[in-house]
Amino acid sequence: MTPAACVIGWPVEHSRSPLIHNYWLKACRVSGEYRCEAVPPDQLRNFLQSLAARGYVGANLIFPHKEAALAWSEPDDRARAVGAANTLWLDNGVLRATNTDVGGFLDNLDACVPGWDRGCETAVVLGAGGAARAVVYGLLERGTSRIVVINRTPQRAQTIQQWFGSRVSIAAWDERDHWLGGAKLLVNATKLGMPAQPELVLDVSRLPAGAAVADLVYVPLVTPLLRAAMARKLRTADGLGMLLRQAVPQFHLWFGKKPEITEELRNLLEQNLSVPQPRSQE
Ligand code: NAP
Repeated sequence: MTPAACVIGWPVEHSRSPLIHNYWLKACRVSGEYRCEAVPPDQLRNFLQSLAARGYVGANLIFPHKEAALAWSEPDDRARAVGAANTLWLDNGVLRATNTDVGGFLDNLDACVPGWDRGCETAVVLGAGGAARAVVYGLLERGTSRIVVINRTPQRAQTIQQWFGSRVSIAAWDERDHWLGGAKLLVNATKLGMPAQPELVLDVSRLPAGAAVADLVYVPLVTPLLRAAMARKLRTADGLGMLLRQAVPQFHLWFGKKPEITEELRNLLEQNLSVPQPRSQE
């Protein structure tokens, strides 16, 4: 049977993952398929239990499934420690889970903002969903002394603080501007700024000179947050770089070949992202 993988989300139909993985299937001469699967939260368990029967060797998880999927799979140490998984694969009938968002986020930040972690004492992370968990885990791993998690729903930020411990503190959503003054790194891990979502209202002028800004949102490619940071000549990392980098180990797991992020692929995605239409993201 032709090996197939899919992206599972709710909503999912406009995910860019099919574009990336189908490009690599062709480039690596693998005869496989990569599809979109729209699965509502109350059907996730059944869907995952029937993954093999549906012909899949693995799957990519996007919102809102990254945290919930841990209960219906065998997470590796990383997914367990992050508290969220974005990658599933079948290993002799066992559904395993890992998290490639951590590596994708860090690799992209290293590439776009070399040396960002030198003297990065305080980082501000906006958001407390599955992606924010990967970001916080990565920042802790790289030695950030203090991470301030700021989320619209305070309980979710509290859960992250309790999960990751004393180097993480939380602040109220309405006070987000205040915390920018001491931040060496600002990360947007909310959905704000995506099409059909409200704008992220933030006073970027409060960030110190020399701060870096990363946005996980990649539609549009240059978000208003990144544009404001660039206008201040701050160093930035966009969401597309992370999307591409987190996808490399996924393809390797499912199809057994290590794909390349070529200029052609990045251009293909940039072109696709320049077409204005409402879309969801990983
Ligand atoms: P999620 O688990 O659904 O979390 C969504 C986050 O956005 C929560 O913190 C939520 O706050 C916040 N949010 C949503 N609407 C908001 C609003 N109107 N005002 C303030 N906050 C709001 O989603 P996720 O998986 O963490 O994804 C978060 C973002 O990261 C998405 O934009 C996703 O596309 C992006 N992402 C990108 C990559 C990449 O490779 N570039 C990878 C992963 C994720 P509440 O808790 O208050 O609801």
